[in-house]
Amino acid sequence: MTARIISGKAVSAEIRAEIAEAVRELKARGVTPGLGVLLVGDDPASRSYVTAKEKACAEAGIHSEEVRLPATASRQEILQVVEDFNRAESIHGILVQLPLPDSSMEDDVISAIRPEKDVDGFHPVNVGRLLLGLPGFIPCTPHGIVQLLLRSGFAVAGRHVVIVGRSRIVGRPLANLLTSRGPLGNATVTVCHTRTRDLARFTRQAEILVAAAGRPRLITADMVSEGVVVVDVGVNRVEDDSRPRGYRLVGDVDFEAVKEKAAAITPVPGGVGPMTITMLLYNTVVAAAALHGLPNPLSEVPGA
Ligand code: NAP
Repeated sequence: MTARIISGKAVSAEIRAEIAEAVRELKARGVTPGLGVLLVGDDPASRSYVTAKEKACAEAGIHSEEVRLPATASRQEILQVVEDFNRAESIHGILVQLPLPDSSMEDDVISAIRPEKDVDGFHPVNVGRLLLGLPGFIPCTPHGIVQLLLRSGFAVAGRHVVIVGRSRIVGRPLANLLTSRGPLGNATVTVCHTRTRDLARFTRQAEILVAAAGRPRLITADMVSEGVVVVDVGVNRVEDDSRPRGYRLVGDVDFEAVKEKAAAITPVPGGVGPMTITMLLYNTVVAAAALHGLPNPLSEVPGA
């Protein structure tokens, strides 16, 4: 069997068209969705993520404002920018690009964001809402993964999903979402991490396998069963002298070997990455409508 390639680019384009239409509807009612972006320091990867997010906003008709602070910025200076975004009427979503140069500030900075503008879904109120099954902002990568599966024709309800990774931004919120009672959930989930004994014993049981460990080629063909659906979240740089930059990006899955056993697989790049940005736009539009007391112009469930 050679796997079908699940295209994050194609599904993203479909959702971004829905988002652009929702933005037109909101603008017709006098509301232009706005995203406030805070970038602290000059890490090249963070810079390029922010640029990609701002470009995607512009393409969807979403207004974005960026504030840049030096890596030496104090906690007070960072919190002041968040507070300005919290108060700004033109800003409906706030994105603090992580990691911060001083990662010990992250919890305080995230907690300072108004939960109604927390479009990354990292504020404790939104984390709690997801855990409780209440409406709130779902973190973009887990939300993107589930939308990618559903819109590619792969049901998650009733399936056994094995997640490798338990981070705050991917593994754990994804497990919460997939075990929720809603239309994006009802799966049976196993979460693996570095203390899991015999990882392959679990990955072989997966009907859907999500690799989010940040370890190049951690998942090899002998670790998966025939017919599995594989979502590769990993983005890892590996040296490659044939490339102008001297490196290329690979996922956590040995793509070439695993695709011969899987029913379907996401590529890296072009899989989960575009979906993450798309769901940030989605959350920003939902936030704009809610903050203006308007109905949500976007459907949660594909085709609904
Ligand atoms: P993270 O915070 O470093 O967490 C990695 C998780 O994987 C941890 O829970 C860790 O276990 C587990 N892990 C690491 N090595 C393992 C192994 N050998 N066996 C089993 N579990 C292992 O990473 P993250 O932020 O979740 O990101 C994961 C990857 O996804 C990275 O490559 C990142 O670049 C990528 N990513 C991509 C997107 C996108 O939009 N495409 C978005 C977010 C992240 P412990 O908890 O025990 O340490």
